Amino acid sequence: MRQPCIIPINIAPTKQGYVQLKRRDDEGRGKTENLHRIVYRSRKGPIPPGWEVDHICNRRACCNAEHLRCLQRLDHLRVTNRQRNAGRLEEARCYWEAHRHSRHVTGAEMGERFGASQTTGNRWIRIWKAEGCDSL
Ligand SMILES: [Zn+2]
Repeated sequence: MRQPCIIPINIAPTKQGYVQLKRRDDEGRGKTENLHRIVYRSRKGPIPPGWEVDHICNRRACCNAEHLRCLQRLDHLRVTNRQRNAGRLEEARCYWEAHRHSRHVTGAEMGERFGASQTTGNRWIRIWKAEGCDSL
């Protein structure tokens, strides 16, 4: 992605972070639509039924057509979950690194704090230690 994100600044995003436009459809009914979907259609073509427009840049307000791609709903869900999990893992690691020198941080604590099982918490810690965080 060489081009920067395009974030509209004259429209406040929704709580979920999307930028929406209110329009009237052909029958004159008011309709709210996410701006990135409108941009995708006008720049890249129709969105097939059951498909969704994904932000490759992971910024929901972005309307740069080069950062948008069409995915089937389940693929979109999978990609989004992976991004969310990566964010959670990053947070968990920061937490662990911030506390591990002052006290013993257990896998159970990590799991509880970051929504995973104790086994997963233990695995994270094992991986981080193996990655050489001990020298930090
Ligand atoms: Zn973007």
